[in-house]
Amino acid sequence: VNHVVVVGAGLAGLRSVEALRARGFSGRITLIGEEPHRPYDRPPLSKAVLAGEADSTVVDADLDALGVELRTGVVATGLREGVLLTSSGEVPYDGLVIATGAKPIRLPGDGPQHVLRTIDDALALRALLTPRTRVVVVGAGWIGAEVATAARRAGCEVTVVEAGPTPLAAALGPAVGAYTTSWYAEADVKLLLEAKVESVDVGGVTLGDGTFVEADVVVTGVGVRPAVDWLEGSGVELGDGVLTDAHLRTTMPGVVAVGDCAAWWSRRFSRRLRVEHWDTALSAPEVAVASLLGEEAVYDPVPYFWSEQFGRMVQYAGHHAGARMVPRGEPSADAKWSVCWLTGRPGEERLAAILTVDRPRDLVQGRRLIEGRHRVDPVRIADPDVTLRDC
Ligand code: FAD
Repeated sequence: VNHVVVVGAGLAGLRSVEALRARGFSGRITLIGEEPHRPYDRPPLSKAVLAGEADSTVVDADLDALGVELRTGVVATGLREGVLLTSSGEVPYDGLVIATGAKPIRLPGDGPQHVLRTIDDALALRALLTPRTRVVVVGAGWIGAEVATAARRAGCEVTVVEAGPTPLAAALGPAVGAYTTSWYAEADVKLLLEAKVESVDVGGVTLGDGTFVEADVVVTGVGVRPAVDWLEGSGVELGDGVLTDAHLRTTMPGVVAVGDCAAWWSRRFSRRLRVEHWDTALSAPEVAVASLLGEEAVYDPVPYFWSEQFGRMVQYAGHHAGARMVPRGEPSADAKWSVCWLTGRPGEERLAAILTVDRPRDLVQGRRLIEGRHRVDPVRIADPDVTLRDC
């Protein structure tokens, strides 16, 4: 391999470049990104940047020392074996890393709607968050909750419109999501549940039942789609994102995929996972580039992420699909709480996932239990006074 091309200059793209050099790769590296910026972090966009505490989140990396040719403002448009097609011509490669991330879903309608994915989105939105501005946030997911937090802090009148029965229902299930419903009222945020936005119109949003909710600013936070349209018709197999094996190799030789756009085969959870979180973008590139350079490496993490909403630190580790939820204590009564998800037959139960709210110790210990596949006692797990390590 002489020339590696990395497509997508986000965190996963930059980490791929760093991992190549860390492995001693001395060939040519080209990093191609559609945005006009150097690689930057996205988590602070809905936190410090919206709060006015930061204007830039560029990742601290010495691109000159890394010997990478960064080409910003260049869009990848297609792929043949050995050749990347871009908005500024063909780029031949020996090895290719796909790291194009994800793009926000927009709603129908002619009214102006903001999304929050890029630093430009964040700065444009921040400028509008002024006292008494009526902000409608569509979607009570991770991004919606963080935007509502920032908008309230800025003194806006905030309404969150959510199609599901509770906040975070899609991510965590309605039983756990219900524990977070009261956070909205406490923060003086109006929450409309089971309310589907049909269109974003001038002056507000129209709901499925015909109600019009007035707004000066509409922010759509209803999820993202992997940015893989440009690969359609290439030899890279797509499903929910770019499909890879446990080594992060795609179906095209010499091509690997990482970050929000990649759906890898998880040995640990015996299913394909596509995880839209920072920790995955950070950790997957090391394995992907090892595979690209012909080494045997397997990507098998316990996925992890955090979210900061309404003054709370929410953290999650694992993967809970098909697992049984066990609250630790009384989440609806306690300010700090956790829930665990267990799998396995009675007597052989193991921790599959954990969600913690302002209980960082539970998160650290729970993550270790998941990683080590230790058996746990569901009765002890349900008692918040028993440290998880001893469950
Ligand atoms: P991206 O960051 O999306 O980077 C991909 C890059 O590729 C982009 O710059 C894109 O413009 C470019 N690109 C796309 N298509 C093309 C193309 N065809 N040609 C060239 N370039 C292309 N995660 C957490 O764990 N905790 C958090 O608290 C958290 N908060 C977040 C808050 C916000 C507002 C956002 C948007 C995300 C947050 N995340 C959080 C998620 C986390 O930021 C992402 O998982 C991470 O950015 C994924 O990195 P990536 O490099 O895979 O993709």
